[in-house]
Amino acid sequence: MICNPKHLCFYPMTSAPKNRLTEAAYQCLPGGPLDINRGFYDKVAATGHERTLVESFILPIRSGKAWEVRKGNICRIVAVEGPQVGDLNIWSLHNPRERFWASRTRQLQRAHVSVYDRLWSILPFLRPLVTITGDSLKDYGVDGSGVDAEGGRVHDLLGTRCDPYVNRMLTGQDSDYHCHSNLTRAILPYGLTEFDVHDVLNVFQCTGLNDKDQYFMKTCPAKKGDYFEKRTSFARYPLVLEMWGEGSTESTSADPMLECCRPLGVEVYSLPEGWLEKHNWKEALPNGPAYKGQHALKEVPFGISKS
Ligand SMILES: [Zn+2]
Repeated sequence: MICNPKHLCFYPMTSAPKNRLTEAAYQCLPGGPLDINRGFYDKVAATGHERTLVESFILPIRSGKAWEVRKGNICRIVAVEGPQVGDLNIWSLHNPRERFWASRTRQLQRAHVSVYDRLWSILPFLRPLVTITGDSLKDYGVDGSGVDAEGGRVHDLLGTRCDPYVNRMLTGQDSDYHCHSNLTRAILPYGLTEFDVHDVLNVFQCTGLNDKDQYFMKTCPAKKGDYFEKRTSFARYPLVLEMWGEGSTESTSADPMLECCRPLGVEVYSLPEGWLEKHNWKEALPNGPAYKGQHALKEVPFGISKS
C-alpha cells in the first residue's frame, strides 16, 4: 500500500519549525480527542475510599485468565509478591472483533504508557478501551524522568507476547506455556481462539531500543505492591492477562524461568452509583462511523479496466 505523507499535515504542529521533524506526529488541538481531561481522571484516581471491590483474584504463575470489567469500573493489576510481567489483551465483550490496537496506541500515545494514556481499539471502531488512572512506577527512571540509564522504560508497547512458534524456530524446542498459549487457553470460555490473540501491553515490562535500534528487555523493576490501574471507557469487555517468567534474571534452579515466575493480583472496583454522571462522564463512542468516505470504493482498483 502507498501511504500519503500529506496526511500528516492534518495534525497541527505546535513547536518552532526547527523542532517539527521530531515532535509527535499525532496531535490535536486543545479539547480534541487526544487532549485528555486530566482533572477528571485525577478525581477517578482519588476515589480509593469510595470504591467497591467487585472482584479480585490471584493469577497463578504460567497461567492466564479472562475477566470482565464493566463500563466505568476500575481494574488494578498488582505485583503481589515481587517482580512479574503480565501480557494484557483487551476485547469488547459484546463484539470481540473490537480489540486492543497496540501499534496505533503507540502512535497516538507513546511506546511505553502510564497515567493519562489511553489504550485504543482497532479499525473501524477506533475508540479508547481504557484510560490509565494509576501507576506506581510512573516515576521510574533517572530522577523520575520515566527512562533509566540504559534507555529502558516501563509498561511496554514496543514488543509483543512470546510464543511457541518463534521459540521453536530459534531453539528447536517446544513449550506450551508461552504468553501466546496462556492467552489462547484463557479466552476459550468466551468462544475465542488463537486467532483472536493480538499484540499485547506488557505490564511492568521494562524495554527499549539499543543503539542498533534493536529491542531489549530488562529485569522487571516492579516490587511487591506495585500496581497498574485503568478505568474502562465504554461498554463492557473482558480483559485477559497472562504471565510468564520475565520477572528476574537471577536464578540457580534447573528451570530458571520457573523460579523467577510470581503470581499477579487483579482487582476490579466500581465507583459509587451516580458518580460518573455527577462528573459529566460520557461513554466513548466509535470514531469509525463518522467517516463517510466509503474508503474510496467508487475508485476503480489499480490494474482493473474502467470499461
Ligand atoms: Zn511471554
